[in-house]
Amino acid sequence: MAAYDVVIRHGQVADGTGKKLFAADVALKGDRIAAVEAPGTLKGDNEIDATGKVVAPGFIDVHTHDDTALIDNPTMAMKASQGVTTVVCGNCGVSASPYLRSDIGHFLSLIVKKQANVSKNFAEFAGKVDAARPAINGAFLIGHGTLRMNAMGDDLGRTAAPAEIAVMRDLLDQSLGQGAIGMSSGLFYAVANAASTDEVAEVAKPLGTWGGVYTAHMRDEGDDILKSMDETFEIGRRAGASIIVSHHKCSGRSNFGRMKETLPKFSEAMKSQEIAFDVYPYVAGSTILRSDMLGRADKVLITWSDKVPGMSGRDLKEIAQEMGCSMREAADRLQPAGAIYFMMDEKDVQSAMSHPGAMIGSDGIPFDTHPHPRLWGTFPRVLGHYSRDLKLFPLEDAVRRMTSYSARRFSLTKRGEVKPGFYADICVFDPATVIDTATFDKPISPARGIDTVLCNGQIAWRDGKPGGGRAGRALRLHDMQAEAKA
Ligand SMILES: [Zn+2]
Repeated sequence: MAAYDVVIRHGQVADGTGKKLFAADVALKGDRIAAVEAPGTLKGDNEIDATGKVVAPGFIDVHTHDDTALIDNPTMAMKASQGVTTVVCGNCGVSASPYLRSDIGHFLSLIVKKQANVSKNFAEFAGKVDAARPAINGAFLIGHGTLRMNAMGDDLGRTAAPAEIAVMRDLLDQSLGQGAIGMSSGLFYAVANAASTDEVAEVAKPLGTWGGVYTAHMRDEGDDILKSMDETFEIGRRAGASIIVSHHKCSGRSNFGRMKETLPKFSEAMKSQEIAFDVYPYVAGSTILRSDMLGRADKVLITWSDKVPGMSGRDLKEIAQEMGCSMREAADRLQPAGAIYFMMDEKDVQSAMSHPGAMIGSDGIPFDTHPHPRLWGTFPRVLGHYSRDLKLFPLEDAVRRMTSYSARRFSLTKRGEVKPGFYADICVFDPATVIDTATFDKPISPARGIDTVLCNGQIAWRDGKPGGGRAGRALRLHDMQAEAKA
């Protein structure tokens, strides 16, 4: 009998493809899955008893802002505790490299807390991630907003000139050559809002050459969402890139129910283009505090405020009452700040999540004082609340939307399936008890029912705490493409 490093015994395997659960032992050798065989047939130096548990691929969080959290906080407890073994970073137009300026500035400070964590080029940044030996893997997009700050300085309230577009395009091209997996844009944000469709499409051109993906936090997720979808689809088409629309939502009470328009539009476009989207399982979103968003939210909670400490976790309405002023005025006094906005319809969230083009991404913001609970709760919430309790989709399909579908869409070679030859990224969880415990009141709280999480064969999380394994890597585009061809 072959001696394996680890054998996970007597579990029910959800292999990530959506195939029905089956009983099998899973053997790991080094950083790979070596065998998936009938129960009781494999022996290993270490054995993990998975009786009554599901053995799934490690989850892929396709929408994160964990770029420098991987360096500052390498155990990555907020993600490993959910069964996540790979995070896709650099979303919404903001990435920690390539960054040529000496100041971090407000936009980058959303994802960067230390100047030492930004890098002039992607190769250097990926080296910093590897040197930190994170417990889980990272794959990295280059932010169009970050590129703009390099090429245009602080003069961002206009479309880029041709020479500036060329600078951004060259930086993207160089980054993709060094291993970044694509580009993200965040046309919703002030740093990029003045960019024209042409600008983004021209900057994005290297995506087609390298096979990079394009992710978009669209210009508008409210009244003008259909127009923004057209713009996003056009940019992907012109760049020759596959598209991921970020955190798909119909935002604001007046737009509740409009998934009836956006989802058929996705289905139609998916016939002729590579398009998918990510969703987080909550009716509230979170980003910076913006006065123009107050009107569309039923409730606003403050996540952080640089100017007025002690406001994190509090309702802006109550803060305004205490200050004896309007919510808008109170928001101005807290700036710069972050907020959670209750602005989605539960039915919309459910129909988005169960659409064929949907995969799961948390959009958690790692450095917030009082974060949105999605940072610690997204994946167990989909498994426990939406799949098991509400029966929105079968467990196997929930797992597929967190693993193989995500891996394929982001070209993460040999990840996202429990299959011999694939990387040993595994999440063992209890299907009867798995659930998020993070709430809007108490957002920093590990999920229940996540038993053992392995990344590249090493234990990243076990029995409610970090497992000591620090085998995560910066996943580089060229390495993954070479392995896909091999
Ligand atoms: Zn976003």
